[in-house]
Amino acid sequence: MFFAFIAAYAGVLSLTLAFAALNLRHQREHGREVPSELAGVVEPERLARIEAYTRDGARLGMIERATSGVVTGVCLFAGPLVFYDRFIESIATTFAGRGVAFVLGLVLLSGIFGLPFSYYRSFVVEARHGFNRMSRGLFFADWLKGTGLSLVLVGLLSALAFWLVRALPGSWWLWVWLAFTGVSLALTFVAPYVIEPLFFRMEPLKIDALAGEVRALAERAGVHVRRVLQVDASRRSAHSNAYFTGLGRVKRVVLFDTLLSQMSHGEILAVLSHELGHWKKHHVLVRTLASFALSLVVAYVAFRAVSAPFVPGLVGASALSFPARLVVLAALASVLTFPLTPLGAAWSRHDEWQADRFAVELADCAPALASALAKLSRENLSNLHPHPLYAKFYYSHPPVTERIRALRHA
Ligand SMILES: [Zn+2]
Repeated sequence: MFFAFIAAYAGVLSLTLAFAALNLRHQREHGREVPSELAGVVEPERLARIEAYTRDGARLGMIERATSGVVTGVCLFAGPLVFYDRFIESIATTFAGRGVAFVLGLVLLSGIFGLPFSYYRSFVVEARHGFNRMSRGLFFADWLKGTGLSLVLVGLLSALAFWLVRALPGSWWLWVWLAFTGVSLALTFVAPYVIEPLFFRMEPLKIDALAGEVRALAERAGVHVRRVLQVDASRRSAHSNAYFTGLGRVKRVVLFDTLLSQMSHGEILAVLSHELGHWKKHHVLVRTLASFALSLVVAYVAFRAVSAPFVPGLVGASALSFPARLVVLAALASVLTFPLTPLGAAWSRHDEWQADRFAVELADCAPALASALAKLSRENLSNLHPHPLYAKFYYSHPPVTERIRALRHA
């Protein structure tokens, strides 16, 4: 079991890296060809910038994936996990206390591990290609707030979870699931008011005419928009986006200020029609319900498997605490579910096609949506030449050239 697990773990890691390398090579070979769908929008000079940006980003991604994969592998299979487990047992006395200390230590370690990579991404890769707008002060303030927030949230949730495990040993999987589901529902309601303001400044959209058009468009789709907001995304990055939030019938529309400066009103409305499609076709609801159902299965499997005698042997240990066993099971699950990645991606792409078609039916905006997509890829320097296999495996959105082609024929 031990060696089979190591082999599977290493296999998945090598496969991810091989996929990324394949994608890079494809771009090196085809990156200078202007796709016919983008003729006139993307010129050869822009393609050279896209190629350089994709290459820098992908290389950093591969280095981070390889480093974190090897470090995690060493921690799992070569002793540090057992050492860490004993250390936590020596400093905390109660079951819940040990569990919380174990989890918080991991959150902190992974936050610290990711910091240099995210620093390099912002201040070297993004800066080199003109996207970074963040000061170092803002970067570190974001990191401190983000890490602090996850320590508090994870601390509270894991305290509750480990307490439930101890209090209700025969049925904790159900209670832990109920508690997590309740908290995550509550978070979707309060996050716009409590968490987003920690990072962004939202204010009502300053362009009254556009705000009116956004409301009218949404009403036509049967969605009542309470607030149309613009967010100061340009303080951090020049990348652009727009989204809807809120559950039920009342929504907020959030537009990045960077999007407002790059696009015409017609293009912005076309992008929002697409986002409305996700709501009207219940993509968000179905996805939320599916994730709740999946997490119920995960909780039950964890409940059944966590005390199985084979678990410590998977990482070559003779004994492991409850939280350490959960970590081993999580690593096993990530290896076993890797082959399912393309299913999730295909599901997401299916939703994107549906939202595009909905936008065209709602607002008759095929040309505006096509030109908005073209502008988004041009301004964000998106890779226009993904390897077909890579796109099938990972892409949550259909390649932009395919979407534009479909819109031209709509
Ligand atoms: Zn979409």
